[in-house]
Amino acid sequence: MNATLQGIGMTSARTRKRLIANLSDAGIRNTKVLSAMQDVPRHLFVDEALATRAYENTALPIGFGQTISQPYIVALMCEQLLDVEKSGPVLEIGTGCGYQAAVLSKLFEKVVSIERIGDLCRQARDRLFSLKFHNVHCMHADGFQGFIERGPYIGIVAAAASNDVPEALLNQLAPAGRLVMPIERGSTQSLIVIDNNPDGFTEREIETVKFVPRVSGIIP
Ligand code: SAH
Repeated sequence: MNATLQGIGMTSARTRKRLIANLSDAGIRNTKVLSAMQDVPRHLFVDEALATRAYENTALPIGFGQTISQPYIVALMCEQLLDVEKSGPVLEIGTGCGYQAAVLSKLFEKVVSIERIGDLCRQARDRLFSLKFHNVHCMHADGFQGFIERGPYIGIVAAAASNDVPEALLNQLAPAGRLVMPIERGSTQSLIVIDNNPDGFTEREIETVKFVPRVSGIIP
């Protein structure tokens, strides 16, 4: 591995291991998730000036008023999707810098990731390509419509909080598939998990969270 990928000092393997230990202490148990997060170089998904903070368990700014999600939340969402014992593609809404897409790409066959801000989408696509995450398909669109052409999906995750669960996403969940997304509930947000069971959808809340809001339409 070259020095950029491996990282030095505050981006070194030891610093990364500390993050993984934090995630494990916070309750993340799935070893596939922990090892994917150990492998993905988060410092290459943020601005160089923030690289030394990349392995802290916090959200960080990525420009355009958006953030890279907190590692714990990325891990929690991936863990929820991995509970589904089925193979197939997954859909991510809100690519941002592409970090969660990269983690998902280590865990699932194919990842479709949709971003509404053109510059972020193009940057993430280039970054994922140069880091060889070749099983991620980045799209520039309003993600809450999903993308049926590549579905149905065994898992869907959203990284932006919505007031409701769009019908389009439920319709693109494969049988036994799972949707994980933040929902606005008054002044707070809850991370909810919806399962597509043979007798209908079931929903439960797993955590109070803080995501950027869903915005409709695209920016070229
Ligand atoms: N997945 C990212 C998190 C990015 S923050 C990570 O790995 O850290 C959430 C992203 O959702 C922002 O980039 C924002 O532009 C995007 N977003 C908000 N509303 C959207 C919509 N309707 N369609 C697609 N992306 C959307």
